[in-house]
Amino acid sequence: MTLSEMRRWIDARGLQLTKSLGQNFLHDGNQLRRIVAAADLGTGDRILEIGPGLGPLTELLVATGLPVTAVEKDERLIPILGERFQGKELLTLLHRDALEWLQETPLDWDDWKLVANLPYSVGSPILVELALAERPPRRMVATLQWEVVQRLAAAPDTDAYGLLTVLVGLQFQSAGSFKVPKNCFFPAPDVESACITLVRRPEPLLPPALIPLYSQIVKTAFGQRRKMLRKLLRNRWTEDQLTPALAAAGILEMARAETVDVDGWVRLTLGLAGPVGAIVLNGTGCGSTHSR
Ligand code: SAM
Repeated sequence: MTLSEMRRWIDARGLQLTKSLGQNFLHDGNQLRRIVAAADLGTGDRILEIGPGLGPLTELLVATGLPVTAVEKDERLIPILGERFQGKELLTLLHRDALEWLQETPLDWDDWKLVANLPYSVGSPILVELALAERPPRRMVATLQWEVVQRLAAAPDTDAYGLLTVLVGLQFQSAGSFKVPKNCFFPAPDVESACITLVRRPEPLLPPALIPLYSQIVKTAFGQRRKMLRKLLRNRWTEDQLTPALAAAGILEMARAETVDVDGWVRLTLGLAGPVGAIVLNGTGCGSTHSR
């Protein structure tokens, strides 16, 4: 979909683009093809696109011949998408708020790949929702603000490292990113953008039953960035629980959350999990495997 085609659809429908919905549409063919290539799509994949907009990315996704589910919040775009993709039986178009839909409908995402130019205002919560799913997607290729992409790929002890890094990092690893110049969008966004590829870890680090505990621990520990994590965790766990769990995780007395890597948070979760954690620590596994 070229910029002039995009403008034609917008003008023909008298559409006023909505900034709060992040309506900056991507019209650059090279960038769109790079995004699709990053998804490494193949037989057996199912594709989730969040925020299809006028469908420039949807077009390339549908052309793969794989099933695509596209979730769009703006009701004005639904008839346009319906018209553009008429007869495309492998496309399921949902008119929903994607975040609400993901929260209400916990699905088995095991065979899925997210490929999306995400609405920036809800990009992070959408990624976290999918990343912490019991059966997360195989891969997530997402265009977001550059600042968020940096946070997703950050190493411990850097300014960008934080709660988002460790929530998504539990089940995903960054496989690289590239910048998408502002002039590739219509209208050009105010912020810098980039596309990141997040690949599901080959084996889960925790059994699904412990993901909520992991999430609770890191949310508490990152609650106040400059405070010692032990002090913050004391609001929820006793000294008797914390002392052995922190020692077993190799986390120092004075440590702050931003110095602990994902493996450290996993070990701490297992230490605070009681008997279930002990079973995993003793090597009987995570009780779940990914298909590939
Ligand atoms: N994929 C298109 C493209 O690349 O040109 C559009 C991307 S635009 C950055 C984000 C899209 O997400 C818009 O179409 C917007 O209406 C839609 N959107 C915003 N918030 C949403 C939400 N909560 N759920 C689903 N779609 C949403």
